[in-house]
Amino acid sequence: MKILTIVESKHQGNTLKVAKAMAREVPMTITDVKGASNYNLDDYDILGFGSGLYYGRYDKELTRFAKAINDKPRAAFVLFTSGINAYSEKTDPLVNLLKRKNKNVLGLFGCRGHDKFIVFRIVGGLNKGHPDEADLKNARDFISGVAESYENAKKKKGAAIMDCLFCKIINGEIPSTKVFENDMVYAFRDISPQAPEHVVIVPKAHIKSANEITEENVKYIAAIWEAVPAIARQLGIDGDGYRVVNNCGKNGGQTVDHLHFHLMGGREFAWPAG
Ligand code: AMP
Ligand code: ZN
Repeated sequence: MKILTIVESKHQGNTLKVAKAMAREVPMTITDVKGASNYNLDDYDILGFGSGLYYGRYDKELTRFAKAINDKPRAAFVLFTSGINAYSEKTDPLVNLLKRKNKNVLGLFGCRGHDKFIVFRIVGGLNKGHPDEADLKNARDFISGVAESYENAKKKKGAAIMDCLFCKIINGEIPSTKVFENDMVYAFRDISPQAPEHVVIVPKAHIKSANEITEENVKYIAAIWEAVPAIARQLGIDGDGYRVVNNCGKNGGQTVDHLHFHLMGGREFAWPAG
């Protein structure tokens, strides 16, 4: 598991201290925003983002960096040190920004830093000595938890693929009557046809349902729709027309958890659909 943590720790170096404590528990590369351009984000499994909170705000450069990233969806975590302010995962502005950037945020870690810009003036020395040993121990426990959830999610995905009916059909473990195949798409005759011609078209990637279509995997959908007219012509149903259906989830009547489109023809279909 490769982790890249981008830390802006300007005043007291508190956030960097916390990140370094984490790195002693789970190996990771730590860089500041400027140095981050030397790394290809797509090489990392988990991205960490951290800074002190200055007047309740994350570091401007870190925020700007997070706003501009354009990498693949991946796991992430956030850490902050703060004199007075603290966020929950729901309200944290950086967590929310990362979610909009297709990040699966596995955790938010905050601890008090010794921020003389805020605390000194208000309550003088409240956080003196923080982050302390207890904070750093919490940081180490936190990052172990992040690593564990990452591994669990990976295992779960692997298990889902291993017992997926359509993945097995794609790789030939379960026989099917193939109608069409290319790099991204596999199409086969439905075992229980609902029309004279009934073909199931699936992406060659385990996408669970229409709900899991993302910017990254939407190319499979384009490839499927490119295949539709070719398959229709092959079946001789392009002239009279056909129906393409995707069932999603319980209400949609989806029975196999691998995204698929039904291409049906050879008869007229009713509308509205039943
Ligand atoms: P859905 O109900 O939309 O999830 O569609 C799943 C479709 O897969 C149904 O139309 C089933 O008849 C079809 N199906 C299930 N198992 C097989 C199989 N082994 N070979 C071909 N089609 C299958
Ligand atoms: Zn699958």
